[in-house]
Amino acid sequence: PYDLLVVGGGPAGAAAAIYAARKGIRTGLVAERFGGQVMDTVGIENFISVPYTEGPKLAASLEQHVKEYGVDIITDQRVATLSRDKLVELELHSGASLSSRSVVLATGARWRELGVPGEAEYRTRGVAYCPHCDGPFFKGKHVAVIGGGNSGIEAAIDLAGIVKHVTVLEFADTLRADDVLVRKARSMDNIDIVVSAQTSEILGDGSKVTGLAYTDRTSGASKQLELAGVFVQIGLVPNTEFLKDSGLEMNRMGEIVIDGRGATSMPGVYAAGDATTVPYKQIVISMGAGATAALGAFDYLIRSSVD
Ligand code: FAD
Repeated sequence: PYDLLVVGGGPAGAAAAIYAARKGIRTGLVAERFGGQVMDTVGIENFISVPYTEGPKLAASLEQHVKEYGVDIITDQRVATLSRDKLVELELHSGASLSSRSVVLATGARWRELGVPGEAEYRTRGVAYCPHCDGPFFKGKHVAVIGGGNSGIEAAIDLAGIVKHVTVLEFADTLRADDVLVRKARSMDNIDIVVSAQTSEILGDGSKVTGLAYTDRTSGASKQLELAGVFVQIGLVPNTEFLKDSGLEMNRMGEIVIDGRGATSMPGVYAAGDATTVPYKQIVISMGAGATAALGAFDYLIRSSVD
C-alpha cells in the first residue's frame, strides 16, 4: 500500500503530492487528467509571482515538478469508490483497486454550464466563469452575468468596478441573492438587473462573443444584448459524486467538509481544493490547501500505528 495516495492532479493534488513525497513517504497520485481545470484556462494573471501564464503551461510545470519526486503517477484513471477498512481502499472505474494508509482527495469542481448554443464555442473567447480570474480582461466593456444568486450578484458588483456596464440576467422572477447584495447592486448605476430572462444563445462573430439572446419569460418576446463578455454564474459543482456511499461528511452542495488541517470526517482521509468547503476557489488557494492536507495526513501517519 501507499503511505499517501492523492486523488486528483490539479493544483491541490500536485501540491499535496510534492509535500508528501518530500517527507520521504511512499506517495502515489491518481487522476483522470493531470492539470485539472487549469488545462481549460487561457490567461492566468493572479498566480502570485508569475505575472502572466497560460493554463497548459502551468499544468505542464505542475506535472514536471511532481515528477521530480518519486511520486507514482497514474493518469487517465477515475476513482469510482472509496471505503475504509484498516487501510483506505479506492476502486477505479477500470476495475483495479489501490490501497493506502492515508488519502488526500483533490478532485476539484466544474462550473455548471448553461447548455445553450455558443457557450462551448466561445468559452475563453468571451464566455467566462470566474470574475476574479477574467474580470480585468473586460475593462471598459459591456458584459452580462447570468445568474441572480449570491455568486451572480457578487460577480456583478465586482465586475461593475472594472467594466463599463453589467447586465444581470436571472431565469426566475426574483433574485435569490442575499438582500444586502441585491441592494448594493441596485445602488450601482452601471448594473441593470433583468429577471424572468431565459438565455437562449451566446452570439459571436466566429472569433469572439458579440452578445446574447434571451427570451423574456413574461411576455415571450425575444431580445438581444450587445456584449463583449458573458459570465456564467449558475453554480460550481464539486467532483464528489463518487463519494456518495463512502460515509464521508459533505455539505448540502456536495463539498467535502474539512477542518483547518484538511482532515475529513474519516480518519486518514484528507481533502483539499475546489472539492471541499474551502471558501474561494482559486489556484493559489488550492495549492496552499493541498500542502496543508498533505502535512495533516503526515501528522496522522506518524501518530498511527504501523502494522
Ligand atoms: P481541479 O483543478 O479541478 O483538479 C481536479 C483533478 O481531479 C483533475 O486532475 C481531475 O482529472 C481529477 N479528478 C476529478 N474526479 C476524479 C476522479 N473521480 N478520479 C480521479 N481523478 C479525478 N483560478 C485562478 O486562481 N486564476 C485563474 O485565472 C483561473 N481561471 C480559471 C478559468 C477557468 C476557465 C476555470 C474553469 C477555472 C479557473 N480558475 C482560476 C480556478 C482554478 O482553476 C481552480 O480553483 C483550481 O484548478 C482548483 O484546483 P483543484 O486541484 O482543487 O481542482
